[in-house]
Amino acid sequence: NEKMAAMGSLLAGVSHELNNPLAVVVAQSTLLHEFSSDPQTKARAEKVRAAAERCGRIVKSFLGMVRLHQATPVETDINQVVRSALEVTAYGARSTGISVDVEFADGSVLVSGDADHLTQVVANFLVNSQHALAAIQGDRRIKVRTFRTKSGLAAFSVEDNGPGIPASIRERIFESYFTTKPAGVGTGIGLSISRSIVERHNGKIWFEEVSTGGARFVVELPMIGGSAQADAATQAHGA
Ligand code: ADP
Repeated sequence: NEKMAAMGSLLAGVSHELNNPLAVVVAQSTLLHEFSSDPQTKARAEKVRAAAERCGRIVKSFLGMVRLHQATPVETDINQVVRSALEVTAYGARSTGISVDVEFADGSVLVSGDADHLTQVVANFLVNSQHALAAIQGDRRIKVRTFRTKSGLAAFSVEDNGPGIPASIRERIFESYFTTKPAGVGTGIGLSISRSIVERHNGKIWFEEVSTGGARFVVELPMIGGSAQADAATQAHGA
């Protein structure tokens, strides 16, 4: 976290400066692609556009990382967070034939936090699962759950029936820039940003292997009214 804070202001400045020229590169290469009559120029313009868009995505992730330092916590419903993340990623799942099964805890599961950042965590998990499932044939499934733990914490999990994560790299997946994906697909910052977000919410994040071999990512966060509810439950059981 300290390292990120130190990099923060520098990254914010550079990222902002890069946004405008990148938009120009995207716009101009799109125009060149559309209006050029030479097929080779068209193909090259398209490559320039794709590369500039990728730069734009990297800049956006950096800004996302920097903005972590400016969040003001408000009452946030984990069920709503999961719904928003599912909306953002639905197209990717549908277009690759993945079935997404969702199980919500009853009512609202309230935490004190930043809904956009928490949505980013769920969306990172969902996109990673989609990438993992692209590698397998046949039935592709993602299961998303929100729940309350016995100890009164708010929790959510995302699991898939993909290939899972080899034991040899499990230690490293939360490191910044660690990726097993080809250049152009992975940046290796999704899980490290997710961990920063969860830790800022005083929560825990971890990976576990599903019995079928796939991956499951779990997050637990302090729940508003959580310990009070747990106490009430204990008292009720004790009575
Ligand atoms: P990126 O997705 O850009 O590679 P992440 O930090 O999100 O960066 O993920 C790091 C690595 O963790 C991935 O490259 C992949 O090897 C592994 N990983 C994450 N989620 C899954 C998953 N659901 N199934 C298999 N591997 C995963």
